[in-house]
Amino acid sequence: MLTVGIDIGSTATKAVLFDGKVRGSAMVPTGWDPKEAGLSAYRQALDRSGLAQSAVRCIVGTGYGRVSLPIFDRRVTEITCHARGAFHLFPETRTVVDIGGQDSKVIALNDQGGVADFIMNDKCAAGTGRFLQVMAGVLDATLEELGAIAVGVDPVQISSMCTVFAESEIIGLLARGVPKGRIAAGIFQSIASRIQGLAGRVPLSDKVTFSGGVALNPEICRAIGSGLGVSLFLPQQPQLVGALGAALLGFQQ
Ligand code: ADP
Repeated sequence: MLTVGIDIGSTATKAVLFDGKVRGSAMVPTGWDPKEAGLSAYRQALDRSGLAQSAVRCIVGTGYGRVSLPIFDRRVTEITCHARGAFHLFPETRTVVDIGGQDSKVIALNDQGGVADFIMNDKCAAGTGRFLQVMAGVLDATLEELGAIAVGVDPVQISSMCTVFAESEIIGLLARGVPKGRIAAGIFQSIASRIQGLAGRVPLSDKVTFSGGVALNPEICRAIGSGLGVSLFLPQQPQLVGALGAALLGFQQ
């Protein structure tokens, strides 16, 4: 039985095909049309797998754009889907830290991979992928370059939590000649302390999976792991965890 999970996120839209194993996946920018992004990710995942649409038995939607597509048999919150996806990849995990384009969350899991508790920051860009993108813009670097220049350097303290104030603070640091690598490391530290603050508000285990696009940056993974005092489980494709969870929930059903 083939099921599809489609995660229409604020920044990227992901689709995963599952029939007991992952059969294909795709990711496209969400852009301004979440409905089209959802359909496009679905089509691309099917094309890549070589499977026919007629084989699909259930389509589960998640992510902020899940309301915009009429093709879903079921809609599930991204909290439930990230928990389910992470539990499938790492059955030992009991906590998920997810940092996406416009929100961050810490989810406590029960022994069945369900959600026991969660805390979410979707009110402010601090500690999200958006914060990182804005700061990369100020440093005139890509997200990958930002990771590379921060390796092994002493982070500068960035005291502003607010994205707008942090942007001005970084412009000031550049003007004073502080190396970009130290600033990049300071930005990662700032994201890590924001996550630490969130994590202190739910029951935390030492079996933590880090999901979402920001987990693609090894330096941020290191900063978050050391901030929480754990070694993180890192999915190979952290952006697909929510879509995988959605496909799994369809399969289970
Ligand atoms: P959403 O589901 O909200 O669209 P995703 O989990 O797909 O979010 O993650 C998107 C975010 O991932 C972007 O905002 C971007 O900041 C971040 N991202 C993508 N690639 C990288 C990278 N190489 N390093 C750090 N962050 C990245």
